[in-house]
Amino acid sequence: MEKWLSLWSIGQEADLKAFRQIKDAGFVGVEIWAEHVCADDYLEFARQCDLRIGLHLPFHDMNLATPDDSVRDRMLEVNQQWLEKLAEYGGEHAVIHGGQAWSSEEREAALENVRHRLLKLREIAEANHVTLLLENLIPDKLNYGHIVASTVAEWCGLLKGTDIQACLDTGHLAVMGDSLPETINLLGERLASVHYSANDAVADLHLIPENHAELLAALREIDYQGPIVYELNPYKYSLKDILESTSVQELLQMEI
Ligand SMILES: [Zn+2]
Repeated sequence: MEKWLSLWSIGQEADLKAFRQIKDAGFVGVEIWAEHVCADDYLEFARQCDLRIGLHLPFHDMNLATPDDSVRDRMLEVNQQWLEKLAEYGGEHAVIHGGQAWSSEEREAALENVRHRLLKLREIAEANHVTLLLENLIPDKLNYGHIVASTVAEWCGLLKGTDIQACLDTGHLAVMGDSLPETINLLGERLASVHYSANDAVADLHLIPENHAELLAALREIDYQGPIVYELNPYKYSLKDILESTSVQELLQMEI
């Protein structure tokens, strides 16, 4: 298993020196946050430091599930641009959110939209030698709208229906209330990346996990070889906090 860092975790003002520190600490790769205004600089810094590169595709204005054709077209165009840019940097994977239905009544139509658009984006990703990964998200607990994919069954259905690989966010899963070992077991070979953080199972706090035992045991069960990507709260931690954390250092030093 490889240890990576999501660059959402380091905020938007890091310099080349910070990237050298990330590399020296033992991270082998970084996941660029496309919505960072400095994302282009970070791609360059990652390349200069010989860090492997993944990408978190933009999502705030990029609703994969939208019923609006103009929004759909713009969403596909922007994601295509990012996938092509990622390919220029030799990027390996791109994580995408499934978006949201405008109301819970529209769930089925939204899922159908997402399925079609994932197939289209998978094609573009493959043409650029990038693996597209669909992430699990936190449900709208009031059920006013519907977030895709916010149940494990819905997520697995979309993954199978589109033959796309999964990015498992451990913090989102905790808020969803599902078992980590059972979900990892269910995903099996479809699991291609892990977004790693902890919380109180109520809010998506992106805290540094203290204990890696449950995650690592479940990943070993399925012979997982992919990245474990720390995705930590940049409004709580500095890069120094992350790199000096005992539990982060413990994972970085583990031969797994
Ligand atoms: Zn995400």
